[in-house]
Amino acid sequence: MSSHHLLLNLAQRHPHLILLNIILGFSGALFNGISTALMVPVLLSFLGQPAAIAGVPPILQSLLTPFHNAGESNLPLMTGAILLVLVLKNIAAYSSAFVAGMLKRSVSHDLRTQGLRLLLEVDIEYYVVTGVGDIINRFNNEITRAASAIGILTRTVTVAITALILIGLLFSMSWQLTIVAAGLLALVTLVNQYSITCSKTLGKQLSETSRHYSTAVLDLLSGMRLVRSTANEQAEFEKIKQHIFNREQAEFKAQAISALIEPVSEVTGIVVLLGIVLISHTFLDQQVETFSTVLLTYLFVLFRTLPLIAQLNGVRSQLANISPSIEITHDFLRRENKSFMPNGAVPFSSLKTGIHFQQLSFTYPGRQKPVLNDIDLHLPRNTTLALVGASGAGKSTLADLLPRFYTPTAGKILIDHQDLRDLDYRSLRRSMGIVSQDTFLFNASVRQNIAYGSPEATNDQIITAAKQANAYDFIVQLPQGFETQIGDRGVLLSGGQRQRIAIARALVQNPEILILDEATSALDSVSEHLVQEAIEHLSQNRTTLVIAHRLSTVKKADQIAVLDQGRVVELGTHEQLMAKNGYYARLCEMQLSLPHYKTGLHRNRVAQISYEIRSRLNNLVGSLSLLINDGFDSRQEHQEFTQEAYHSAIDLLKSLEALEHDALEAPSNLARPAAWIKPIAATRI
Ligand code: ATP
Repeated sequence: MSSHHLLLNLAQRHPHLILLNIILGFSGALFNGISTALMVPVLLSFLGQPAAIAGVPPILQSLLTPFHNAGESNLPLMTGAILLVLVLKNIAAYSSAFVAGMLKRSVSHDLRTQGLRLLLEVDIEYYVVTGVGDIINRFNNEITRAASAIGILTRTVTVAITALILIGLLFSMSWQLTIVAAGLLALVTLVNQYSITCSKTLGKQLSETSRHYSTAVLDLLSGMRLVRSTANEQAEFEKIKQHIFNREQAEFKAQAISALIEPVSEVTGIVVLLGIVLISHTFLDQQVETFSTVLLTYLFVLFRTLPLIAQLNGVRSQLANISPSIEITHDFLRRENKSFMPNGAVPFSSLKTGIHFQQLSFTYPGRQKPVLNDIDLHLPRNTTLALVGASGAGKSTLADLLPRFYTPTAGKILIDHQDLRDLDYRSLRRSMGIVSQDTFLFNASVRQNIAYGSPEATNDQIITAAKQANAYDFIVQLPQGFETQIGDRGVLLSGGQRQRIAIARALVQNPEILILDEATSALDSVSEHLVQEAIEHLSQNRTTLVIAHRLSTVKKADQIAVLDQGRVVELGTHEQLMAKNGYYARLCEMQLSLPHYKTGLHRNRVAQISYEIRSRLNNLVGSLSLLINDGFDSRQEHQEFTQEAYHSAIDLLKSLEALEHDALEAPSNLARPAAWIKPIAATRI
C-alpha cells in the first residue's frame, strides 16, 4: 500500500463527508459565478448605462433576460438577487468549512485509533528499535499533519470546480481571450512549480527536525534527575534550544515558500489582466454598449478567477509540504513492516502440572549471537525456580520468554505439556503476575495503581493486598491515603514504596504464575526488609520464576539454575550447589566475604555524612570570615551572621556524632540480614 493508498483508504471511510464537502463547494462556486456575472450589469445600471442584452454571450444573456423583462423594477430585482446569491454563497462557504473541519477530525480520529491499536499489538521489540520520542512524534505531529491532507485535497477539488465554472463563464464570453489568459496562467503555474518542489523538501526537513525535537524533549524529561545530578542543565538547554531553533527555521522556510506562492500568482495575474485589457479590442464585439458590458463582466470574472488559481497553487504547495508526513504516517501504520506475535487458539485456564523449558534457544531479532542456548529446565506447579548468574547471562531474557514477549528461536516452552505457541497468550498473561525491579506505576491514585489488572477488585481486597505487601502503613500516611496521586511513574514515592505498590498490585491480581525480578541495591535496609517480606507473601503457593539477587530467596528456592553466557551451568538446591563447590559456591563465597566497610551501603553513608560536614564547615568558615572582616551594614546583619555561624557549628557537631554512631554500630550491622544482603544485591549473583 503506497501513501496515496492511505489517502484513498481514508477517503473511502468518509465518502459522505467528502461528497457533502464537494457539493457545498460546488454550490458556493455556482453562487459565486452568478453573483460575479450579475455585478457589472447592476453597476452599469446604477451609472445610468443599462446593460445591453443583444450581442452579449448567450450565458450572460440567459442570466440577464429575466431581469430585463422586468422593465422598471429590474434594478432592485437584480440587487436583491445578488444579495440573495451572496448570502447563499456564504452559507455554502460556512457549511463547507464546517464539514471540512469535521472531516479532518474524523480522519485524525481514524488514524490515531489505528495507530493506538497497532502500538498495543506490535511486538515488544518495536519499542526497543524505535525510540519513544520518535513514536510520540509520529503519533501526534505527523498524524495531525497527514490528516490535514484529506481536507486540503477536498479544498483543491472545491477550488478547482469554482475555477472551472468561472473559466467556463469566461470561455462563453470570449474563447479567444480565455485561451490567451489560460496560456499566461499556465506560465504562472510553471513559475510556481519551483516553489512546490522546494515545499516538498522543506516538508521533509520539518518532519526530521520535529522528530529530533520530540526525542530530545522526551529524553530530557525522562532523564531529569540525571541531568540535575550531573549539573548538565545548561548543556541540555543549549541542545534543545538548538532543536527548537532548527524546527523554527524549517517552519519558517516552509512558510516563506508557501507564502510566496499567492503574491507571485497575484502579481502575474494582474499582468495577465492588463494584457487582456490591451488585446481585448482584437477579440470582442466592437459595439460600444455591448463592448463595455462584456469587457467589464469578463474582467470582473477574470479578477475573481485569478485568486482561485493562486489558491490552487497554494494548496498544491501545502500538499507537497505535508507529503513527507503522509509517507511517515503510512509507514507508521503499515503492518507489513512490523512483527506481531501470532496468537494461539487454546485458552489458558489454570496450571495443573508445571512449566517445561525444553531445549530452548533464543537470539534477539537482528542479532547473530544466541542469548540463550539449549536451556532445559522444569518448574513444577507451586514451586520456585531461581535464576542466578552474572549480568548479561540471559536471566531476564529467559523470564521474558514465559509471558511470550518473544518466541524462542529453537526449542519450546511447555505449559502442562501444551506448547506455549498454541495458547492464547492474553489468557495466559492474565494468569501471570510480573514484578520487575524497575516498577512501572501510572500517574494515577494509589488505589488505581493497585487495582490495575483487576479493575473489579473490591476495597477490602485492595486493603488486604496493601497490608500483605507492607504498603498499608505508608499509604494511609499519604495526604489523601489510597486516593493520593503518585505523579509520573510514581515519582512522589520512594523506590521501596513503589515496589510494594507493585507487589500489592500482583497480590490483588492473584496470579497463578509469578515472574519476579528482585530489586537490587536501590533500597535502604529497612525498605529492603519490607519488600522482602512482601515478596515472601506474594510467592506463597504460586509457581514462581525468580531472578534472584538475594541470598535468602536463593536459599529458599526449590531449584536454583545458574546461568552463564546463556547456558545452564549448574542446577540444584542451595545445599546441593554449595556441596558441589562449583560456580554457585564461588559466587556465594565471594559475595559473603565482602567486608562490611567496603559495601556500597557504608560507602554511601560515609560519603553523605562527609558531604554534610563539608558543607556545614563551609557555612561556618564563610560566616566567620565575614565576622572577622566586619563587613556589615547594620548591627542586625552582624547578629544574623553570628547566629548562622553558631547554628552551623551545632549542625557540624551533630554530623560528627552521626558519624561516630555509625562507626560504633557498623560491626553489629553484620548480624542483621539486611546489612549482609546488600553486598549480594549490589553485585547481583
Ligand atoms: P542483568 O542481570 O544485568 O539484568 P541478564 O542476565 O538478565 O542481565 P539479559 O538482560 O537477559 O541478561 O541480557 C542477555 C543479553 O542479551 C545481553 O548481552 C544483552 O545485551 C542482550 N539483550 C538484552 N535485550 C536485548 C534486546 N532487546 N535486543 C538485543 N539484545 C538484547
